[in-house]
This record gives sequence, C-alpha cells and structure tokens, in this order.
Amino acid sequence: MHEFSIAASLVEKLSEFVRENPDKRICEVRLEIGELSHIEHDQLHFCYESITKETPLEGSSLKIDKVEAFVECPHCSYRGRPKYWDDILAGAPVVTFQCPSCGKTVGETQGKECAIKSVKFSQIQPVPS
Ligand SMILES: [Zn+2]
Repeated sequence: MHEFSIAASLVEKLSEFVRENPDKRICEVRLEIGELSHIEHDQLHFCYESITKETPLEGSSLKIDKVEAFVECPHCSYRGRPKYWDDILAGAPVVTFQCPSCGKTVGETQGKECAIKSVKFSQIQPVPS
C-alpha cells in the first residue's frame, strides 16, 4: 500500500527526532502533498494513526496541505491547471495530461510533492527530583 509506506517512513523520521530530542513531544506534523502524487489523504491519516499507536508519537495530529497541480505544454506554451477527466464512477475528478488548449501531452511543473512542511512540538517539563 502506497500510503502505508509513506506513513512508515514519515514516522521513522519523526521517531529519529524524538530520540535525539527526548525533552520534546511532537504535537502536529504538517505535510505538503501534491495532487499528482495519488495519495489518499484519508488512507494516510489512518496509516499514521495506526503506526504511531503506543509510540511517543501517539496523539500527534497529522495535517495535510494539498498542493494543486500545474502543467506546462511544450507544444503551445499553455501554462496552468491541468485538464480534468470527470470519472463518474470514481466520483472524483482525475487529472489528465492532455493540454486544455491544443490537446497534446503536457508536462507537470507542480503537484508531485510529498514532503514534511512543518513540525510543531512542545517541551516536556522535567520531573523535579
Ligand atoms: Zn498545448
């Protein structure tokens, strides 16, 4: 599963941070995910929650910022949003790589992102001895 491996490597990176900073607790992780990356946000949320269960990351919230796709046509110099193919059965618009202006194949300039944008953490109060 695509989403599971993304969540797993994300949790791995965050766990590393937690190990190096034992006095900090991660409360929120914000990701930037491109429209063309074909990542199901709900699936990713679900995987993240199940992987972080009973770990120091449990209870941290995952926020996803969607990055809209942009394409560029090498044939007619169209730049902008891609053309969508409305798939009635899927219920969601599907991005196509057909130029909205001339019908030839476009290249993407933005929309394949999958990166950590920011991490919010709080300081754990040391227990007085
Ligand atoms: Zn074109």
